[in-house]
Amino acid sequence: MTTELAGRNAAAQPHVRPLEGKTALVTGGSRGIGAAIVRRLAADGAQVAFTYSSAKDQADALAEEVGALAVQADSADAAAVRAAVARTAEHFGGLDILVNNAGVAHVAPVEEFPLEEFDRMIAVNVRGVFTAIQSAAAHLGQGGRIITIGSINADRIPVPGIGVYSLTKAAVAGLTRGLARELGPRGITVNTVQPGPTETDMNPDSGPFAESMKQLMPVGHYAQPADIASAVAYLARPEARFITGTSWDVDGGFAV
Ligand code: NDP
Repeated sequence: MTTELAGRNAAAQPHVRPLEGKTALVTGGSRGIGAAIVRRLAADGAQVAFTYSSAKDQADALAEEVGALAVQADSADAAAVRAAVARTAEHFGGLDILVNNAGVAHVAPVEEFPLEEFDRMIAVNVRGVFTAIQSAAAHLGQGGRIITIGSINADRIPVPGIGVYSLTKAAVAGLTRGLARELGPRGITVNTVQPGPTETDMNPDSGPFAESMKQLMPVGHYAQPADIASAVAYLARPEARFITGTSWDVDGGFAV
């Protein structure tokens, strides 16, 4: 069967497990959006590994729940990220899908913004994404997928204090476009999903900004992590092979 026909058949059979036979690595998969992505990719048939930084108990519980492989690896530590990619590929015999989800945020006025926090956000949100992609690229083949969780704050800044966070998320959107150009000829797609406000420990929907955020969204409520995971799962599917280099806003209309 040609690749073209295989793509059509996948689209025509939405109830098959579309990621059967694929292996995925999700960074920062122990909690929040990352955990929802781990659950969804596993439900869609993928073998899944995920990294975490410190939440070992939650990581172990999730790994047991969905039969995933949990690997402790701080995204700021390039050697640890490389080792996590290598371990995933060795454990499952390959790697098809990389989801860069791990991310941190620090909010402060520009005059008071600690440079240590600036460096940490660059190290996790930007350098960590690059090192994961760099390591994974050696394993990804035809049909490979790289999906990075950016943020709608790359494009829209509704409150002060998040300029550095926005910088990191705009950086990965640029990296996505550049690497889509570079890896497309190898049959690998590279995309960014840009969530709007999503209920997690990082951004609880009862937090200090929550009511004003809801007013900015036509849908009037926060996303649940599963809403973001469903967009990631779609981009991971074989039928999404013609989508690359894009930043997909999954934001309840936050950006309109
Ligand atoms: P949470 O803080 O709820 O969860 C973060 C996850 O990332 C945890 O699993 C955590 O693991 C892991 N993590 C944090 N730091 C590191 C690190 N240095 N190395 C490895 N793993 C790490 O965040 P969210 O789920 O809300 O956010 C996930 C992604 O989505 C981030 O990139 C964030 O910027 C982005 N995003 C979130 C939005 C929101 O409204 N929630 C909106 C737009 C984008 P551990 O607990 O072990 O440290």
